[in-house]
Amino acid sequence: MSFSPDDTIVAIATPPGRGGIGVVRVSGPKAARVAGAVLERESALPPRVATFTRLTRGCSARDDSTAAHLSDEVVATFFPAPRSYTGQDVVEISAHGSPVVLHAIVRSAVAAGARLARAGEFTLRAFLNGKRDLIQAEAVGDLIAAATPLQAQVAFDQLDGTLTRRIAAIDAPLFDLIARLEASLDFPDEGYHFIDICETQRQLQISIDAIDSLLADAVRGRMIREGATVVIAGRPNVGKSSVFNRLVGADRAIVNAIAGTTRDLITEQIDIDGVAITLVDTAGSREALDAIEREGVDRGARAIETADLVIVLLDASEPLTVDDERLLEQTRDVRRLVVENKCDRALERAPHDIAIDARMSAVTGDGFTQLRSAIARRLTGEERLRDTVAISNVRHIALLTAARDDLRRAHAAAGEQTPEEFILTDLQAARSKLDEVVGVRTSEDVLAHIFDRFCIGK
Ligand code: GDP
Repeated sequence: MSFSPDDTIVAIATPPGRGGIGVVRVSGPKAARVAGAVLERESALPPRVATFTRLTRGCSARDDSTAAHLSDEVVATFFPAPRSYTGQDVVEISAHGSPVVLHAIVRSAVAAGARLARAGEFTLRAFLNGKRDLIQAEAVGDLIAAATPLQAQVAFDQLDGTLTRRIAAIDAPLFDLIARLEASLDFPDEGYHFIDICETQRQLQISIDAIDSLLADAVRGRMIREGATVVIAGRPNVGKSSVFNRLVGADRAIVNAIAGTTRDLITEQIDIDGVAITLVDTAGSREALDAIEREGVDRGARAIETADLVIVLLDASEPLTVDDERLLEQTRDVRRLVVENKCDRALERAPHDIAIDARMSAVTGDGFTQLRSAIARRLTGEERLRDTVAISNVRHIALLTAARDDLRRAHAAAGEQTPEEFILTDLQAARSKLDEVVGVRTSEDVLAHIFDRFCIGK
């Protein structure tokens, strides 16, 4: 991706398909001129006023000159630079949400000198023009992609600047420390010390603690942002499908029966305590009898290997079988919950010494509240499930972890009375990582990677 922030871009900003309203967004120095060509108006659009108007005769459904022109009543708003989403001149045109009308507007804007925007380009411009830092720009993508209310809240907090402020609070004392160490370096002969070792270490510890407290939420934050895959495994007839249906029936957030590529792995998206979970029902785990069944069991085994959590389902009404034992052995080293189903049936089987994490009945529904919290707790390792978190993005987590390593090194070096130069090198390295989180220094590759996952028009 090469950045060309000075030309004028256009895109449909609303999702594909039909709706009550569809919005076309134009950004760049020629935005007002493009609006002039698209809209039937005597005078220019007044700034920041929603203006009821019409499309010009230039808008047509096809490129050739004989095509019938297309008309619509629209509301257009002109946001002059720099007080706009991108920091450039922006015009937003709300038409009726018909793809035919919206494409005609885009075509007419292109004829007037705009070019089609790439994915994420509006938000990229907002970042390049200093309207948002990189954390906030990424949060726009996360907010749009959010599938659970908690994902949306975490994204909005970042958009609102929560993480940016916490990083600034870590950075400010570091900056001060660097200034004082550099001053000490500048006046070595005069015995002029702006800061002693104890004070240096104390200040470093404050920054290290602040990063620690941010990173304490990292596992839960990542789980909230990225969701998790939970696989239900168990021998045939323990009630996998019944448990799957109960969990899906009660918690279906985003109904999305993922295309039935296989009949043996069934997948649904659900929301458990704010975590977007892909729930997978596997084929029964047992010694397969024929080739087709074997393939199903193999796929189940692969799903277990790649899952974030495996629910090992046992039947409370029957003794453990060799298939149960094999599955317990197979999942010994993965993150799992060992769960007993069919607890409504009188338990007459011999006791076993397997530790059970939850008990329920897919027939009566008893125990499912506990099962859901056990799933969320095992995934996030925490009790505070519904709380929002400051940090959730793996890029931020990696950079902050590396910055903390730099600071720990500096802390140890100060303790060994290492000369200021060496401590300064670590401190500068830590600061540059903090800068990278916020986007003060970011390579084009990283930006391309971040903004490519946006959709067009954002
Ligand atoms: P799967 O082969 O592991 O997917 O098991 P199913 O969900 O198809 O269930 C097998 C049988 O056990 C069905 O007849 C279910 O009605 C029954 N079953 C499932 N869960 C329970 C339960 O909690 N209690 C009782 N009594 N029967 C259950």
